[in-house]
Amino acid sequence: MEYITLLPRKEQSLERRHPWIFSGAINNASGPIEEGDVVEVRTSNDEFICLGHSAVGSISVRVLSFENVPIDQEWWNQKIADAIAVRQAINLPNEKTNCYRAVHGEGDLLPGLIIDIYNHTAVIQCHSVGMYLDRQKITLALQNAFGDNLHAVYDKSKNTLPPNCDIQTFDSYIYRVEGYNSDQEIIENGHKFQPNWEEGQKTGFFLDQRDNRDLVAYYAKGRSVLNTFCYTGGFSVYALANGAKQCTSVDSSEKAIHLCKSNILLNNPKGEHSEIVADALQYVRDMKANEFDLVILDPPAFAKHQKALLNALQGYKRLNAKAMERMPKNSILFTFSCSQAVSKEQFRQAIFSAAVIAKREVKVLHQLSQGADHPVNIYHPEGEYLKGLVLLVQ
Ligand code: SAH
Repeated sequence: MEYITLLPRKEQSLERRHPWIFSGAINNASGPIEEGDVVEVRTSNDEFICLGHSAVGSISVRVLSFENVPIDQEWWNQKIADAIAVRQAINLPNEKTNCYRAVHGEGDLLPGLIIDIYNHTAVIQCHSVGMYLDRQKITLALQNAFGDNLHAVYDKSKNTLPPNCDIQTFDSYIYRVEGYNSDQEIIENGHKFQPNWEEGQKTGFFLDQRDNRDLVAYYAKGRSVLNTFCYTGGFSVYALANGAKQCTSVDSSEKAIHLCKSNILLNNPKGEHSEIVADALQYVRDMKANEFDLVILDPPAFAKHQKALLNALQGYKRLNAKAMERMPKNSILFTFSCSQAVSKEQFRQAIFSAAVIAKREVKVLHQLSQGADHPVNIYHPEGEYLKGLVLLVQ
């Protein structure tokens, strides 16, 4: 195995167990290294510090282990078993929920790897070449861990691998039992959904909002709900199941609206539902004053990287200000940012500015984050990507 040597003192962040090594920290390499190779990392004093997947870009190595052990099938079996043990500790799956994130990248000390479970199907999403090259071992480890409960492993890495990497791939099943049918219903907190991992966004469903959907349900009774950026309609299903008078779901994608509508019907809602294909910002700008007394704003990441930060903050400010301006007294706003580049404080500041522009009294009722199956590694605070506030608008 080739090794790389760090510049003096560049091991400090690794001693604090941060899992990334930036290109500027590297002095030299022992030989040619291909993107995705497992490499050993040594300090400037030639001491072992970690093993990781090499990458091209500003992050040159993603750490796999701070111990000098072989990264073989046995290692993979243990890592996947460890991740599943974390989910068992937080009671997932359970009788009401059979879909959850089994591996959350850095949060599970597996940087660049996402695995979502939809009942008997695992969907793997690799964000690094190293993880992609290990996908067969990962699949075998999943089979070892889940046994007969695993019916299929779908690889959905085509759109998440680094854009300039050498790998040409298409999304496909790595493993499937005979007679497998991908048309499957899942349950989340007792609500039914039909995710589509083959064609849907991300791995097919946004599992990170599960707990927050329950909180929407808590406040929905008797309210008129606007769910913008609704995708598969998760918040809408929960709101209608818990006594919302009416719910309007808005998304710019026709496919998303189609999924949303079928998920609503799957749950036999009592309240009235309407679904609208529209730009959410435009919709919020045009909505009548006092039309909705519970509004959900869950846009896609406005800032995918640091350079887009200022524009993203402006975007959150504008969207939230428009919504607040039109909401009646004592209405409830659920507002989210899933941009990793936007910190909790920056998001809160953008919402503060929105309240000033809208000239409303606003109280923070809850501060939200991603579900516990998307754990944040304490040494990698960047992992807390989902930020949410529940606000009382007066
Ligand atoms: N709230 C969803 C997840 C939102 S993902 C859930 O709980 O599952 C973001 C969604 O925003 C996607 O469905 C995408 O199609 C939609 N979207 C992106 N830009 C949009 C825009 N300008 N207006 C409305 N929807 C948009």
